Amino acid sequence: MDCVFCKIASGEIPSTRVYEDELCVAFKDLEPQAPVHILIIPREHIASAAEITPANSSIVAHIFEVAAKLAKENGLAKGWRIVSNVGEDGGQSVKHLHFHLLGGRSMAWPPG
Ligand code: AMP
Ligand code: ZN
Repeated sequence: MDCVFCKIASGEIPSTRVYEDELCVAFKDLEPQAPVHILIIPREHIASAAEITPANSSIVAHIFEVAAKLAKENGLAKGWRIVSNVGEDGGQSVKHLHFHLLGGRSMAWPPG
């Protein structure tokens, strides 16, 4: 499958990894939108959060555990944001489920 994040997970495409385990990989976003901008992806190809089912939803809990750990390790005690863009209106550009972990600055609400 021609999926850039599957290739990052397998190591075929290089990335700056900050964490990995048997279920997920976390790496720095190429175009950071905040001082800390990490992407956390499942190793399994899931197209987006719209494809979460009872069979695969446990990966989301796992990724949130990893996000909390990475936020602590990156000194985000003042707060942080986790975002998953879904589909065209959500602004999703890579069709492999990913969570943006953003921090190190104050975030606006609502998002644009
Ligand atoms: P989204 O627009 O929510 O689908 O997010 C995709 C994110 O992936 C964007 O923030 C891109 O900067 C980032 N991105 C795309 N290709 C790469 C790559 N090869 N390495 C790291 N980040 C990437
Ligand atoms: Zn993929």
